[in-house]
Amino acid sequence: MIPSSIAEFREAFQRERVSRTYSGTVHLLLTVGASLVVVLYCLLQLKNVRAVEWLTIPATFLYANLTEYVAHRGPMHHRFRGLRMVFKDHTLEHHRYFTSEWMELDGMRDLAAILFPPFNLALFVGGTGILVAVLLGTWISANVGYLFLAVALGYYANYELFHLAYHMPENSQVGRFPVMEKLRLHHTRHHDLQLMSRCCFNITYPICDLIFGTMAPRAASKTAPKANGDGAAISRASEAPASRSSSRAPTK
Ligand SMILES: [Zn+2]
Ligand SMILES: [Zn+2]
Repeated sequence: MIPSSIAEFREAFQRERVSRTYSGTVHLLLTVGASLVVVLYCLLQLKNVRAVEWLTIPATFLYANLTEYVAHRGPMHHRFRGLRMVFKDHTLEHHRYFTSEWMELDGMRDLAAILFPPFNLALFVGGTGILVAVLLGTWISANVGYLFLAVALGYYANYELFHLAYHMPENSQVGRFPVMEKLRLHHTRHHDLQLMSRCCFNITYPICDLIFGTMAPRAASKTAPKANGDGAAISRASEAPASRSSSRAPTK
């Protein structure tokens, strides 16, 4: 049974932070659909790709994995000037909505506590991604620019879908895929309040966690979390989600 502290937090979050008209299905379709449209558009622009240009795919994939790791280990779990909202949305809200004790969502409205809001896609991923793609297209070649943007947006959709899968019920179809089981466990360990600021920062593939030595300790258990580190920050925060525009889905 869901712990009462999590149930109360979820109720307050839904009441104060999520619009009554919010639809998790629309949020998901918008996030993944818009990303895949851009991916498809970019792939259709490719012309006579040279062998060396295909290397853009693994290079961008590793760059995206590093970006995911740095953003999560940095501003999502530490207060940075100008990025406090990111810390609040992730550490103080996502990590209270889902803990290693209770990772499962309880309906489509819970997607507001998992997916990034659509403007993230437009601003951070689309905006900066397009800028880098244009620079690469100008400095190297159009094919490299298009491949970069296609992989970046594809990775973003992958991130959102995997993160959603980890918070689906454990016995759901997707949660039972062997690889997905392992990745889900990796993320579950990150949701332990004792470990969340120390390990398992990759949400998709734990490549940077392996490189930087931040895989979960072997003895990591799924016991009840104690408040220390960011856990203490969580305890110090008010019981209810910080109030701001209730119509906006929070970032993760
Ligand atoms: Zn999560
Ligand atoms: Zn986290």
